Amino acid sequence: MSDNEKTAAENEQDIVRYEVAEGVAWVTMNRPEYHNAQNGRMTYLLDDAFKRAVADDDVKVIVLCGEGKHFSAGHDIGTPGRDVHLSQDRVTMWYDHANKEGGEFLYVREAEAYLGMCRRWREIPKPTIAAVQGACIAGGLMLAWVCDLIVATDDAYFSDPVVRMGIPGVEYFAHPYELNPRIAKEFLFTGNKMGAERAYQMGMVNQISSREALRDDVAALAQKIAAMPRLGLALTKQAINNVEDLQGKRSAMEAAFAWHHFTHVHNDLTTGNKLGGMDAKSMAKANKEES
Ligand code: ZN
Repeated sequence: MSDNEKTAAENEQDIVRYEVAEGVAWVTMNRPEYHNAQNGRMTYLLDDAFKRAVADDDVKVIVLCGEGKHFSAGHDIGTPGRDVHLSQDRVTMWYDHANKEGGEFLYVREAEAYLGMCRRWREIPKPTIAAVQGACIAGGLMLAWVCDLIVATDDAYFSDPVVRMGIPGVEYFAHPYELNPRIAKEFLFTGNKMGAERAYQMGMVNQISSREALRDDVAALAQKIAAMPRLGLALTKQAINNVEDLQGKRSAMEAAFAWHHFTHVHNDLTTGNKLGGMDAKSMAKANKEES
């Protein structure tokens, strides 16, 4: 680790906050200066927070939210705290990616930290609510989508612009389950931002709120759910997740994940860069031009 990286890591001790109030665990991504870009450290701190909430019998509902202007700008592809090269204390059965070469490096990392974690979080046996304000882009979508319910502010927007990198969507390929397939194609082909209102009409968002009311609206929804019996909630969630899996969600994601990694390797072979030469800056610029 360079000195810069060390300083960045030290400054980010508190990048996931955890608090419990009235039976609801509030898990807050806290890198507002980077629009809550998700680095490895945040991923594992989120996992710790979710585990804690699952283990606490007093917690009935879990809320995932983001500090600052935006819910999440996606995976960290360019902040000083980017730590894709570091080993982590893994939670799935994958081996360490950090000393691997070629396609193995990113495949193993993403199988653990993206697809693996997202599946693990989707299966949390307590209801989860994402509270989304501002941007919810690419990897940010994955975080919102693994939650059972989504409440979004009226100025929230969703997009997956990674097709611009030559990659067919983010690692957790839930697009055609979150959206009608034709809309999912439009969403991916264009990389366009989908505003909260349209996302609500598509059934991707449960409720629209405002910046001022988001916390209170989410708390009210969480309270209502928290009044239900724990096991009833857990089994209802399992039953509906099971329906999605019977509809092919899990195996569809397996195929998309393989295609996703074919393009990481293809990008590497043709451009020397797994993201096709795009980085946080060029993606942000392209996203701005599109809007
Ligand atoms: Zn990837």
